[in-house]
Amino acid sequence: MKQRKIVVTGGGGFIGGHLVGALLAQGHQVRCVDRKPMEDWYQTFDGAENVVADLQQLASCMAACDGMDECYQLAADMGGMGFIESNKALCMLSVLTNTHMLLAAKEHRLESFFYASSACVYNTDKQKTEDVVPLREADAYPAMPEDGYGWEKLFSERMCRHFREDFGLRARVARYHNVYGPFGTWEGGREKAPAAICRKVIQAKRTGNLDIDIWGNGKQTRSFMYIDDCLKGTQDIMASDIIESINLGSNELVTIDGLVDIVEDIAEVKLKRHYKLDAPKGVNGRNSDNELILRYLGWEPSIRLRDGMERIYRWIHDEYVKKYR
Ligand code: NAD
Repeated sequence: MKQRKIVVTGGGGFIGGHLVGALLAQGHQVRCVDRKPMEDWYQTFDGAENVVADLQQLASCMAACDGMDECYQLAADMGGMGFIESNKALCMLSVLTNTHMLLAAKEHRLESFFYASSACVYNTDKQKTEDVVPLREADAYPAMPEDGYGWEKLFSERMCRHFREDFGLRARVARYHNVYGPFGTWEGGREKAPAAICRKVIQAKRTGNLDIDIWGNGKQTRSFMYIDDCLKGTQDIMASDIIESINLGSNELVTIDGLVDIVEDIAEVKLKRHYKLDAPKGVNGRNSDNELILRYLGWEPSIRLRDGMERIYRWIHDEYVKKYR
C-alpha cells in the first residue's frame, strides 16, 4: 500500500483511536486531531502527530487538513440513546465540524474524504416494530431520521454528496450501525448498550447486588459490529468507487434481552432484570441490510457477537477493577 499523509479527526475517540493505530501499523503518516484534552483520549500513539483542537472552528479544520492527502472525519458529539435523546442541539452542532472540515478538505485539495454517518439517518417509521426488515440504503428517504443526531448526519451526508458533485471532492460515506469494542466509552452517560450492559453485569457481580436495570422492555432488536470489522469496512469503502452512502454494520440481529443473556453467560452469573419502560430506548427494531456492501466489496462481518462481547467484557472488567478496585 502506498504511504499516505492522513488526518483522523475525532482520533481521541473510540473508532478514531483504533483507526489511527491501524493506519500507523500500515506505514502511513498520521495526524490525529481531537477536542478532548489528550489525557482523555482512549488511545494515543507516539508515532502520530497528536493535536488538540476544536474542529467546530474553521481555522482548526484548515490546520488539520494542511499538507494532508486524505481525511477520515469521525469527530462528532455522540453517544448512546441516553445521550442523543437529551442532547439534540449539541448533536446538531456537529454540523459546524462537518461543514468546516469539508471546506478545509476542498481548500487543501485533499484526494479523499471519509465521513462517518450513522444508521440513525434511517426513516424512523420503518423501525417501529421489533420484527424488523433490515434497512436498505434507500430507506433513508423520504427523510424522517432520529431527531437531532440523525438529522445532522443526513444533512452532512448530503453535503458530502454535493461537495463531490459540485467541487469534485472524492467523498465517501459509510452508515455505521452500532460499533462496539475495547477502548471506548463504558460509563458516564455516553456509553452504548454493549458497554453499558457489560458494566452493569460486572458491577452486579462485584457488589453482590444481583439486579440489573434494562432500558425498555428488553425486546428491542439491534445489531452490533465489532471494531475490527468496522475498520476493515471503513478502509475498503474509502478505497472504493462507491459514491452513495452505504451501510457498514453487522446483520446478526439480537434483542437487548439476548445481549444480556450473552453477557451473563460470559460472566457466569444470572441477574434479576428490572425493565425501565420510561428510559430512553431508541427505535424498537433496527438491522443492517448488507446486500450492497457484499456485492460491491465482498465485505461481511467476520466476528460473531458472542466473540466480540467476550473481548469487550474482558476489557471493561479490567478497566472497572483498575478504577474501583
Ligand atoms: P467517540 O465519541 O468515541 O469519538 C468522537 C470523538 O470526536 C470524541 O473523542 C470527541 O472528543 C471528538 N469531537 C467531537 N467534537 C469535536 C470537535 N468539535 N473537535 C474535535 N473533536 C471533536 O465516538 P465514536 O464511537 O468513535 O464515533 C466516531 C464517529 O462515528 C462519529 O462521527 C459517530 O457519530 C460515528 N458513529 C459511531 C457509531 C458507533 O456505534 N460508535 C455509530 C454510528 C456512527
